[in-house]
Amino acid sequence: MCAKCKYCAILDHSGRITSTFTGCSYYARKNVTCKSSNIIYCITCKTRKKQYVGQTKLRCMDEIQAHFNTIQSKDPRQQTNISCHFKQVDHNGRADVQVHILDFIYAFPDSKRAAFLQNETEFRWIHHLCTQLPMGINTMDKPRAAPEMTKKSKEIKKWEIMSSCAMAR
Ligand SMILES: [Zn+2]
Ligand SMILES: [Zn+2]
Repeated sequence: MCAKCKYCAILDHSGRITSTFTGCSYYARKNVTCKSSNIIYCITCKTRKKQYVGQTKLRCMDEIQAHFNTIQSKDPRQQTNISCHFKQVDHNGRADVQVHILDFIYAFPDSKRAAFLQNETEFRWIHHLCTQLPMGINTMDKPRAAPEMTKKSKEIKKWEIMSSCAMAR
């Protein structure tokens, strides 16, 4: 943890994350710094206790800085669901942001394996913590299910149909 670092100051080091929606607690990563990269992270809003799960290849501080820039920005093209949330009138902007690092992605950045792990891990955390709108801040507008999971579930379905046909005979 670096001294007087505004990113380390908002980074939780307790090793625990509690879903503000369900109240369930989970292990988060403890040995983290603002320079940790290849991560799945959670932003918790201190005012309304809403949460957002995201993934980044960047260092934690660079990712948070990017979110801070959108919260600061008045350009409508720069707005995201995060910036819109923290810009609400009863909120305190950047001062409301608390960060947990939930998981590290142990794969070479930009590899297929990393992409799969990022999506799969992010998806799992969104469901654990219940961070989809309206419970949290995640929008599910882009397909989150990793393609390999979909393929696998299709294979299981096919196998089930085949085995039930075999039984019918
Ligand atoms: Zn720092
Ligand atoms: Zn909020």
